[in-house]
Parts: sequence; structure tokens; C-alpha cells
Amino acid sequence: MCGFLGLAGLPGQDVSPELYEGLIALQHRGQDAAGILSFDGMFHLRKQNGMVRDIFRSRDMQRLRGSLAIGHVRYPTVGVGAEEDAQPFYMNFPFGIGMAHNGNLTNWIDLKSKQFPEDNIPLESSCDVEAILYAFAQGLQRTVKSEPLAQRIGVAVAAAFHRAKGAYSVCGILSEGVMFGFRDPSGIKPCILGKRVEEAGTSWAIASESVAFDVIGYERVRDLKNGEAVIIQPGEEPIFLQVVEGLHTPCIFELVYFSRPDSFLDKVSVYKTRRRFGESLAEQWIASGAPKADVVIPIPDSARDAALSMAEALNLPYREGFIKNRYIGRTFIMPNQEERQRSIRRKLNPIPLEFEGKNVLLVDDSIVRGNTSRKIIEIARKAGAAKVYFASTSPPLTSPCPYGIDMATEKDFVARGKTIDEVRDDIGADHLVYLELERMISCGKAGNSEIKEFCTGCFTGEYPTPDAKEHLKALSAERSSARN
Ligand code: AMP
Repeated sequence: MCGFLGLAGLPGQDVSPELYEGLIALQHRGQDAAGILSFDGMFHLRKQNGMVRDIFRSRDMQRLRGSLAIGHVRYPTVGVGAEEDAQPFYMNFPFGIGMAHNGNLTNWIDLKSKQFPEDNIPLESSCDVEAILYAFAQGLQRTVKSEPLAQRIGVAVAAAFHRAKGAYSVCGILSEGVMFGFRDPSGIKPCILGKRVEEAGTSWAIASESVAFDVIGYERVRDLKNGEAVIIQPGEEPIFLQVVEGLHTPCIFELVYFSRPDSFLDKVSVYKTRRRFGESLAEQWIASGAPKADVVIPIPDSARDAALSMAEALNLPYREGFIKNRYIGRTFIMPNQEERQRSIRRKLNPIPLEFEGKNVLLVDDSIVRGNTSRKIIEIARKAGAAKVYFASTSPPLTSPCPYGIDMATEKDFVARGKTIDEVRDDIGADHLVYLELERMISCGKAGNSEIKEFCTGCFTGEYPTPDAKEHLKALSAERSSARN
């Protein structure tokens, strides 16, 4: 998924220490690699595999000088997670450009193996922001120096939109002392502008999630629209350019699982949406004729808000029955099912008191492969639960995400080709309810009536960009040949 933050501070300031704090707040968006690129007349870069706190030392912060900087946390999708694929990227032609992104290009293979080589540009990395960077630079190169810079950036963004297909939000800096951001024509990935007003002037920020602003004292200004760019020049108000028009289809899985509850995405509070998921799930639970539970227990962390509102709506006690060890990494990166199951057990430990002799209703945000739910249900039974009911705050996931959420290949989804009763039996629950698609969508839209559609591709297999299915086919062929 990835996260980025760009800061344009006041002249003479060094913004990297604040950028570091902001990146820590975005760490949930990617724990694989991180980087900061700053500019004080020269670019300074530090990027490496690992977590933000492990990468940057005080000597790095001293070197990362300048009032302009962009930072990134990586969640790997394309490539093998090599160090050189960490972001930000920069180049010095036609002038200095630094860039970081969140997203996935669905025509990456074509760009890397055909389109750019035909222009005599061999892309060096396995990171798709490199393609966006070159497309942007090619656009910039075609502009005339005497034109206003914002106009030239608009041309460069149009060139990037023309070449890069898929989902991406970008932030970047130019050696002209300018920061910019843009959001793909469908606006699938989040991208928000923030500011901090001080006596000495106004500082600006562009981020994947608004939570990065909260921790460094910035306020939300507004989300970028789909197909829109923003340009921030020193001492001036931002310039917004609507580069292309189209239907805005933000990713709904950001609200379900990915984003922090204290973030706002396209004006939608993630926290309030998850509470609405819980209320709606409670209505559905009752309508499904579900048996009466004694207690509602969330699967930490992302299901907590929904589980609490579900418990309130069902008039049931809410208990934290599972204690999560925060120091164990993501279980889905484990190489095989057995390893994943084992690490889920090490990650979540039950408090037997909350399970013994009770009918427990477990609430999770989603069921992907089913490993987590299957194991958790087993843990609940071992801890003494009489019956184990399960509710998911999103519908059955059945289709891969072409836009950068690493979920599973088609055959890995536990719900693919199965009825809900079959999934219930597969994960070993006594009763299973998934929040219906329309309910989930209306919970999201309730936060912002301007959103007409979400990207719900992982639930429906229908994607907002035309070449998504082809990209998934190519990816799946690549994966199976790698496996062979
Ligand atoms: P599983 O069904 O075993 O694949 O695990 C599903 C759980 O993993 C969900 O409840 C989420 O909390 C979490 N999850 C969902 N999507 C992802 C993802 N793309 N990457 C990592 N964890 C995820």
C-alpha cells in the first residue's frame, strides 16, 4: 500500500525531523523500507529496507537538510523488495525532481519492457514510481522555460497520467524549491493537502493519510480530487490544476482495513465509518436470525471500532478477549500456511476468563485467506468458548487487488467459489455473517455524499480502470512461472 509525506517548510528550516515523526505515524502503511529525500539546493537521500525508527540516525537527520523534503514507507507489491527499489527516487534532468508514490501501475510491465526502452530509457529499478518520474520528466522537458512553472508542472502531470495506468498518488519536489502532488484519474489512492500557519509564514504538507498531519501540528486543507495536481511555491498559496476529469472511485478497503481510524480520507472519518460498519453489521446479524451471543470480542486492531458499536447496537458486553503482541510482524508474509498459523497463535493470546462457557461473537474487518479466522476460532474454542460466532465488517473477498494491496491470488481467497455456509464450515465457526456489499458502501458514502462510487474490486472483481484484469492475468502468469 505504501505511505508518503512531503513537507514544504519555511525558508531556512530543516523539515526532515518533522517528516520523520510524520512517517512514524504512517508506518502502518508499509514496514518494508523507508526513505527521506530533502533539498537545500542539493538533494540529500537516505533510504533503506526496514522500519522508520531503525533507518534514521541523528547523523542522517543532520545530513538531510533543507526546507523541502519527501518521505516514504514501503509496502512491497512489485519487485522483490530490493534496497534500491526503496523510495523516494530522484533525477537531475531536465532539472532536479524527487518523487515518492503510493500505488501500483497496471501497465508497469509494458512500460518497463517496451515503452521506455523504445525511448532509449532503460528503467533500472523494479519500482513503478521510476516510470512515473520519467514520464513526468519527459513532459517537463517538452515545456518552454519561459512558461510559468505551475503550467509546466501541469504538462508534466498530464504526461504522467498519459503513460501511467492504474492507481497512484504522488508527491514530489523540484530543485526550483517547489513541492507538488497529484492523484490518479480515478483517485483510487488517498492524497491530502495540509498546512501549518505560523507568524513567520505558512508551511505545507502532502500526505497519504491525514494522521501524519496531526502528529506534527498541521491541519487538513483538503483532499486532492481525482486527476488533480497541486503545486506549492515558496511564499505563495497552492495552485490546483484539474489535469483530467473522470469518475472518482476511492478504494473502500482503506476504510475497512488499511488506514488508521484517526485519519480522514476524502473527508470521510475512518473511525466513524468503522462504527457505522458495526451498527450495520448488528442489523444484519439480527436479520440473519443469528443465535444470541453472550459477548462481543474484537480481533485486534482494525476491527475494534466496529466491534464496539456492534456490541452497543446488540446490547451485549464488549470485551478485549485477545491480547496482541505488537512486536510480531505481519503474518501474511510467512512463506506457508503452517508458518502463518503458528505466527497467528504467537501474535494473539486469549484471556480465557472471557471465553469459558460463553457464546462469543468475534468481529474482524475481513476474511482473506481464512488463516486468521480459522486459527482464532480454534484459539477461542481452546480457551473454553461454548459457541464461536464470527462477523466480518466487509463482504467476502474474492478477487485480487491490481492497485497495490497484496492480498492473495484468486485461488487463495477462502471465499472464492464458496457459499457463506461453506466458508463458515471451512473456518470452523458456528455462525458467520459478512457485512453486505451495499451496506458497506453506504457506510462509506455516509461520510461524504460527494462520493458516487468506491473501488470495490477485491469484493466484486470489477475494477475502475480498463486494463486491471489484463494486469492481474500477467501477474498471475509471472507468479506461476516463478513458482515453477
Ligand atoms: P487471512 O484471512 O488469514 O488472510 O487474514 C485476514 C486478516 O488479515 C484480516 O482480518 C485483516 O485484519 C488482515 N488483512 C487484510 N488484508 C490484508 C492485507 N492485504 N495484508 C495484510 N493483512 C491483511
